[in-house]
Amino acid sequence: MIAVIRHEASKQQVENLVSWFQARGLKTHVSEGEIQTIIGLIGDTSQVDVNLVEGLEIVESVKRITEPFKSVNRKFHPADTVVDVGGMKLGGGHFHVIAGPCSVESHDQILDVAESVKASGASILRGGAFKPRTSPYDFQGLRAEGIEFLLEAKAKTGLPIVTEIMSVAHLPLFEQVDVIQVGARNMQNFELLKELGRVKKPILLKRGFMNTLTEFLMSAEYIMAEGNPNIILCERGIRTFETYTRNTLDLSAVPVLRELTHLPVFIDPSHGIGVSRYVKPMALASVASGADGLIIEVHNDPPNAMCDGAQSITPEQFADLAEKIRRIREVVASL
Ligand code: PEP
Ligand code: MN
Repeated sequence: MIAVIRHEASKQQVENLVSWFQARGLKTHVSEGEIQTIIGLIGDTSQVDVNLVEGLEIVESVKRITEPFKSVNRKFHPADTVVDVGGMKLGGGHFHVIAGPCSVESHDQILDVAESVKASGASILRGGAFKPRTSPYDFQGLRAEGIEFLLEAKAKTGLPIVTEIMSVAHLPLFEQVDVIQVGARNMQNFELLKELGRVKKPILLKRGFMNTLTEFLMSAEYIMAEGNPNIILCERGIRTFETYTRNTLDLSAVPVLRELTHLPVFIDPSHGIGVSRYVKPMALASVASGADGLIIEVHNDPPNAMCDGAQSITPEQFADLAEKIRRIREVVASL
């Protein structure tokens, strides 16, 4: 970290600031130029509050040289992390598609969708049992019963399952769930993240729709700092001024995250764009962008879905998409 000092600062003030940094366990390197003095800070600067330092009278600006995230940082772990989901490998060049309805609505619905997405090549089944809805009057999910139905679909098809957790209190219900999803709305529920760090299960962490990539990676850091390295990042669109789409799918997150972190990066084009007819082009673009996988909402009767019908594609549309994904994958692999 570098602190640029205002030229009117006195020697004594600079010395006081140097002592202040040293008292925080940091080594300092003062370079006095003709016009400006710069203090270089060496050591773990993750504890330093940049805003506080920048607010000091004699400080002109502060720049971080190293990122505040450590465990998830590729600098300290150059090789891709490969997450094991029931013997299946995610990340590190392996590509997977997660598919299924937004919510588990009934026993027959989830079994039906599970069988058709499996037949088209999906490798993991999704389905929300606990639903984070904007209105308390909307369908909240089948909760524990929804997880039971997912487990039945898993037993029948052999597909591992991913489902969203909303409260630490529900963790015992997730014992047999293969991947625990943390939704966009809970990306910064730090107590939940810490608890999931103590569980060794794979976590699908979705980016909050108002969060920067640094904040996203800091949330992953919360999980990893507690000892769970099995994290799959998922870009699912951010809120912008655009109204034709539900969110703006930030595909630029893929190359940036690839560079910054070793964790696998998945894309959710369904929530990212929110309109079923736009899901296919964005899914294909996600594959071309270098993502490690996709998560797609598939419903057997989208017009009557209890949640997110507008962005859900049918099993037939998914079959067509899965075939096109394979073709784009071949092109990407040959480049
Ligand atoms: C979901 O996956 O159905 C969901 C609620 O996703 P997000 O948290 O990205 O909105
Ligand atoms: Mn949904």
